[in-house]
Amino acid sequence: MVALLLLGRILSALSFDMAMAMGLAVVIVAFTLFHRFVRKQLFLPLEILHQGVQFITRTGDVSKRVIAQGPVEYRELGESINKMLDALEVVKNDLGESQGRYALAAAGANDGLWDWNLERKTVYYSPRWYGLLGQTVKQEDTLDQWLSRVHPDDRERVESHLHSHLEGHSRYFETEHRVLHQDGHYKLMLMRGKAIRNDFDQPIRMAGSLTDMSQRGLFDTLTSLPNRHLLLDRLGHALRRNSRENRRSALMMIDIHKFSLINDSLGHYIGDQVITELSHRLQHSVRSGDTVAHLGGDSFAVLLETVASESDVMMILERMRGQIALPFDMQGHHITVSAHIGIVGDIGIYTHADEALRNAEIAMYDARTTTQGYAFFDTSMLSNIMSRREIESELRIALQEQEFFLLFQPIVSLNDESIQGFEALVRWQHPQGVKSPAQFIPVAEETGLIIPLGEWVLREACKQLALWNKKNKEGFVSVNLSAKQLSQIDLVKQVKSILQETGLDAKFLKLEITESSIIKDPKAALATLEQLNQLGVQICMDDFGTGYSSLSYLHTLPLSTIKIDRSFISRLGNDQSSLAIVRAVTELARHMNLDVVSEGVELQEQAEFLKGLECPYAQGYLFARPMTLEAMKDLQVNDLQKV
Ligand code: C2E
Ligand code: CA
Ligand code: CA
Repeated sequence: MVALLLLGRILSALSFDMAMAMGLAVVIVAFTLFHRFVRKQLFLPLEILHQGVQFITRTGDVSKRVIAQGPVEYRELGESINKMLDALEVVKNDLGESQGRYALAAAGANDGLWDWNLERKTVYYSPRWYGLLGQTVKQEDTLDQWLSRVHPDDRERVESHLHSHLEGHSRYFETEHRVLHQDGHYKLMLMRGKAIRNDFDQPIRMAGSLTDMSQRGLFDTLTSLPNRHLLLDRLGHALRRNSRENRRSALMMIDIHKFSLINDSLGHYIGDQVITELSHRLQHSVRSGDTVAHLGGDSFAVLLETVASESDVMMILERMRGQIALPFDMQGHHITVSAHIGIVGDIGIYTHADEALRNAEIAMYDARTTTQGYAFFDTSMLSNIMSRREIESELRIALQEQEFFLLFQPIVSLNDESIQGFEALVRWQHPQGVKSPAQFIPVAEETGLIIPLGEWVLREACKQLALWNKKNKEGFVSVNLSAKQLSQIDLVKQVKSILQETGLDAKFLKLEITESSIIKDPKAALATLEQLNQLGVQICMDDFGTGYSSLSYLHTLPLSTIKIDRSFISRLGNDQSSLAIVRAVTELARHMNLDVVSEGVELQEQAEFLKGLECPYAQGYLFARPMTLEAMKDLQVNDLQKV
């Protein structure tokens, strides 16, 4: 207003022309100013918006945003465009990422691809496929190009999976098997695939991938056998297949008896060779398609893919046992081993592979307590199984509560079956039933509880024999001494005071040691044994012949007796090498002025054999089982003689 009044004043002071000219100029200036104002406020934002959209469309750069300014409607329009761009950008990034991922996967793919046209009977194998097998030039495009390279032991299984899938029994084809690489070695591969079917549900094409699994640790490096992981995988496959196809499979767990003795006495190199040789023997005992796995150490498992019945399992079992029993000739060392085998006769009742394996293991523990060395799993075994921790804590209570008792098994002269002495064998009167040493001695040894337990056994055995000797012609008592006891510093003192306490003459006490208990520290063992010998106590080498028996020890140790392990006695009739070993040991002992006791004599013909070999003493069910204190008290020296 002030400006207009001022303008009026100026105009009224000027001439008409001048006023006209000035007015025009003012109008022009005003219009220009107005135009600028309008353009700035209305058209410019629209134009900028337009330019922005044009730029983004032209460059495709959705990361740019338009400038949203000017009137509300314009700003809202700009913001809407920007929101749209936000969304576009997200979509574009996602797309870019997955495209990138795909490109990366394709470029760096480790898998070989295959595409089998069943009608034309041709297979396309990708370059990577050939690369995985070490082939540089393209080979035949037939199915046999792959199948002929599958390890012979795996082929039956692979083909059966393949047919099963083609027949529509499985949703996917998937197997792990060994494939021959161009370098002559087998590599573990995972093959996956899926069939495409026509309207009649017949497979016309099948395509899939091949993955190199050899780096994934499914095979044991020592034996090249499948390891636990792969065994469980195959077991799982068998469980699923059996439930579909009404087949029966069996599982075995094999543990080599006292294998550590071989490692300790002959070194790990020979130990490894025995394990490798064993792995070959086991593989030869089963059918192709079955799995022999090395679970580590001296433990194997065998999955028998198809068995008709329990007698079928027994047949394979006997074949395996025969193979295991054959002597090993390792750099001049003759070694024989025996095994404990736990069997799940039909895995059909399990849904989980590890459950089946666990029960085979439980049966294997049970087998340790049996004469025949094998056991079929049955559910009653579960109630006997206590965890190591449970056994340990219950053993402590048992020691306080005096839950142990001794059985005495007569040792007889083979000449006239008169009783020469007894072996004291410990039992645990557990609230749930009597437990055999195999169920608790290993835990007692591990935890050191064998020290107080062993002391109790020694005292009780000496006490009972002193009483028996009062009534009878004098006999000895054999007491088992574990490795821990032998390395006990005050053992000699303890033995001495027990002998004094019980009044048993030292010459009637025999301590049974095993090679494994002297092998760890032979010097210290020798020193202790010599002191015991000076007391007048006799020393017996127990379980002789198991693992490796170093004859040099026999010369250096102050022994009075050798006990031949029962595994040789049980094979006497049908195994030439057992006969040879028993004969050699008996002769050697005679030369060295040592007594020989044959252990585990169950049959009359075994006794006859041993007599023929001039073995003086025997122990076994044929003469007497381990008996209670009451039965032993009433027994006379000549009671076992036959009339
Ligand atoms: P071992 O020292 O070899 O004892 C002989 C085992 O063979 C005993 O088993 C005995 O019952 C069994 N036996 C005897 N005659 C026959 C036969 O004709 N056929 C068969 N198949 N077996 C026969 P047991 O009593 O179960 O003892 C097993 C192992 O437990 C013993 O083997 C010994 O190593 C250990 N053990 C037993 N008592 C004690 C002990 O007081 N202290 C220690 N440290 N270990 C013990
Ligand atoms: Ca013994
Ligand atoms: Ca023995």
